[in-house]
Amino acid sequence: MLTLSKSDFKLGLDCPTKLYYKKRGYASKLGEDGYLQFLAEGGYLIGAVATLVEPAGRDVAAEVRRMGPGTSREVTERALELTRSLLEERRVTLYEPAFLVGRRLVRVDVLVKDGNDIDLIEVKSKSQDGANLEWKESVWGEYLDDLAYQTLVVRTALPGFAVRPWLMTPDKSVRAEMDNLTSHFRLREHEGDGSFRDVEVEFTGGPELAEAIRRSGLLRRWDVERRIEERLPQVAAEAAALEAWLGTDPLTHPRTPISKDCFRCEYDHATEALPANGFRECWGELARPERHVRQLYKVGMIGGRTRPNVCDWIDDGLVDQDDLREEDLWNASGTLTDTARRALIQIQHTRALTEWMDEKMLARHLESWAYPLHFIDFEASASPLPYHRGMRPYQTVVFQWSCHTVPGPGAEPVHKEFLNTEAVMPARDFLLSLREAMGDHGTPLMWSSYENTQLRSLLEWVQRQEPETEADLLDWLDGLVTVRKNGKVMKAGRLVDQHALVPKAWFHPKMGGRTSLKVCLPAALEASASPRIDRWLGADGLLDPVTGERPEDPYKLLPDLLPGVAQDGDPEEQPAVDVSITDGVEAMRAYQDMVYGRHMHDAAWKARTTEALRRYCRLDTLAQVIVWEHWRTRLGLQP
Ligand code: SF4
Repeated sequence: MLTLSKSDFKLGLDCPTKLYYKKRGYASKLGEDGYLQFLAEGGYLIGAVATLVEPAGRDVAAEVRRMGPGTSREVTERALELTRSLLEERRVTLYEPAFLVGRRLVRVDVLVKDGNDIDLIEVKSKSQDGANLEWKESVWGEYLDDLAYQTLVVRTALPGFAVRPWLMTPDKSVRAEMDNLTSHFRLREHEGDGSFRDVEVEFTGGPELAEAIRRSGLLRRWDVERRIEERLPQVAAEAAALEAWLGTDPLTHPRTPISKDCFRCEYDHATEALPANGFRECWGELARPERHVRQLYKVGMIGGRTRPNVCDWIDDGLVDQDDLREEDLWNASGTLTDTARRALIQIQHTRALTEWMDEKMLARHLESWAYPLHFIDFEASASPLPYHRGMRPYQTVVFQWSCHTVPGPGAEPVHKEFLNTEAVMPARDFLLSLREAMGDHGTPLMWSSYENTQLRSLLEWVQRQEPETEADLLDWLDGLVTVRKNGKVMKAGRLVDQHALVPKAWFHPKMGGRTSLKVCLPAALEASASPRIDRWLGADGLLDPVTGERPEDPYKLLPDLLPGVAQDGDPEEQPAVDVSITDGVEAMRAYQDMVYGRHMHDAAWKARTTEALRRYCRLDTLAQVIVWEHWRTRLGLQP
């Protein structure tokens, strides 16, 4: 029997055809998304904290797991049976009890029964702000629908009980009073039947810490009953429609109208070995163009956010970039916005296979940058559970910087770096070392405003938590950062955003609709003939190992530093993994694992992770230098 789980219900609301693909076993690319996996791990962590906040419960999922392996149907039946028997107790708290009504199948995060009263608690890792409580539909709507669906099912399964829905989330207005909370939780993944990740989280702290967490208010219940009651009629109607559809035999293929929302469809995977591609099935011939309009720069903003021009293009079957005319990119008043102009440049220069530069603008900016030039990049980590005393949920630990400094015209870049490897908030060491590397002169260059954001957060941290910080260090930091309010600059700092120039002044066909460093580096490498670049790559071991020439993408040459090492050190128990760090999310996960996770006491693992983090961050700042070098040489500016 096809069932309608919580996640099925959410997926069906999003797009019924996606649910069809899921039930038909089409490949989804969500499992490959490192960022989503990172978020999911935060979810498991918060789920474990919820069992401390609502303690002494019976863990239905864990008890079923201990009964031994089984098919997903057998596992579900065991969970339903166990839930039924446990609910016969007058007072009981259950983790992940299961309920089935018709085809509707839900596993509730936490259920607290006291006589005829039932609290149904949905635990989410998304944070709420207890000091400024808001339930914006655009942010919380999907979570409230999820909870409303569970409320509907449990009320039907348990008539005669008063079922009250709650949301439980981290409260970002609360600061932790204890250190290294995350290191007291261990994630363990079980082998499931492949249809979902079966993850168990073990709390390794003692009763005192459990009590401190419970009292801390870091994870808090929110009364959302009124909001849920308001949504129930609509949710009931939607659930009934999806349930009826799941009963069709054979399952009918819903024909959801295609739209711009399809551009983010998880059933559009690029793996040739997996032939069932939902996107291509929905779009048919319209999926074919090689230069599809969905690859255009910020296509969802061209012509306005409410109804961008791409909606009309799709209606008219105009999905090949080569078929677009300039006027197709105009907004309602017949002009090209900056975004549309960038997309037009992308179309024209991709067709002609040529690079484009606004030479005047680029030269003006480059000539305004005073030496020494400091190309900087930071890595930071965040968790729903604060890492350290005084931190709030999701407050970042900025743990690494890399800086390539070009001291003066014609000089070679000099590299310096900092990486924290201990379970501390390294704010002061980070800032002191960065200041020593950068000094008070020259132009600090970042790629996007990320570094500015992190420095502002560090400034706030040291002002609040480390009042002994030297005044001149605070002044230096304050002088770096820019403060904006509602898009307006309230205070300009010294940091310059190198990336901000890309959409306005540079395009290369290798970049497509993207402007991140990960596409700008290969573009600069293809376009630039500067021999200095080969020398820098060679010095870092980043020339092609076969040809000895400049590689297409140096990020792909970052070595696997832990080839074939079992995750827990026991090759019998865990599959071997290759660890390389090639993006910011991987850096964050590696750091978290090395400093707070299961490898925190493994010196060999730490040494290799440290090396991987250094190589990755160093390449990011070298990439910035290479892009600058390309711009400079192409413009014929002084070395
Ligand atoms: S391509 Fe569009 S209509 Fe088809 S499943 Fe994906 S989101 Fe739904």
